[in-house]
Amino acid sequence: MAPGAGTPRLSLESNTPITDHFIDMSETLKISDLHVAVEGKPILRGVNLAINRGEVHALMGPNGSGKSTLGNAIMGHPNYEVTDGSITLNGEDVLAMDASERARAGIFMAFQRPMAIPGVKMAEFLRHATTNVRNPRRREGEELIPMRQFRKELTEKMDQLRMDVDFARRYVNDGFSGGEMKRAEILQMAMLRPKFAILDETDSGLDVDAVKLASQSIAEIGGSEMGILIITHHDKLLDYNTPDFTHVMLGGRIVETGGVELARELYTEGYDRIRAAYPEAAALDAEMQQATAAV
Ligand code: ADP
Ligand code: MG
Repeated sequence: MAPGAGTPRLSLESNTPITDHFIDMSETLKISDLHVAVEGKPILRGVNLAINRGEVHALMGPNGSGKSTLGNAIMGHPNYEVTDGSITLNGEDVLAMDASERARAGIFMAFQRPMAIPGVKMAEFLRHATTNVRNPRRREGEELIPMRQFRKELTEKMDQLRMDVDFARRYVNDGFSGGEMKRAEILQMAMLRPKFAILDETDSGLDVDAVKLASQSIAEIGGSEMGILIITHHDKLLDYNTPDFTHVMLGGRIVETGGVELARELYTEGYDRIRAAYPEAAALDAEMQQATAAV
């Protein structure tokens, strides 16, 4: 676990909350020394991160540094092989759970590129997903949340998100614009009410107004209830979700953690200072970039 020479790494202790609004310290998603490989290639090389419920964490870093890989590994995507380290939720071993068990345990991820499910309507999909998450012991084929109750809740949430009801009748992500896809993810989060939400570039491809709406919606839904990890390049998504912590990923590691001012700095200044300060991680990052470009 000892950091390699020349790679300053923040200890988990430095993740101690600086705010006093968190709900329950015992509700923690904890990632320790996580190593992840994709197709046999190491991508994450020792990630440490602890998120308490009620906190907002921003995760920034250049393209290809491993941000989405971290999200996918937390969700249990089968292509992402955890080769070392641990992920726990309130002390329980998340790595021992399959992806659906993780969702039931209260972990959610809004994907950078959500999948289309032609033939399955949004409402149908959400009713199944919501039922499964709320009744963790439900078996496939058993009863869903009563239609009336579900409709009422869905309509309320769609109102809150200023979404047209017609949206629920469309096939999941099928022919959705970038903005619609992102809103569909936020609607899903609103219905599932997870304990921990990972939002992977929920702002990408959106215009300024859409990002503002997304930012507001996330704040309204997440409030102080969830622990949120916002993966973003921009600071607009953070306008209504001021991060308690900002983490910078480089070369598959979190090399620096700060407050909201770090997010602003990275947005305006880019990653030159970070690369200079963490040359070893920067070298690994450059390698990963080349590998990505070669694909
Ligand atoms: P970020 O989200 O920070 O842009 P990613 O986590 O998507 O970065 O990617 C990190 C590295 O892992 C890149 O080099 C990328 O090519 C590789 N990678 C991620 N997912 C896959 C995958 N499914 N198949 C092959 N390579 C992948
Ligand atoms: Mg990504």
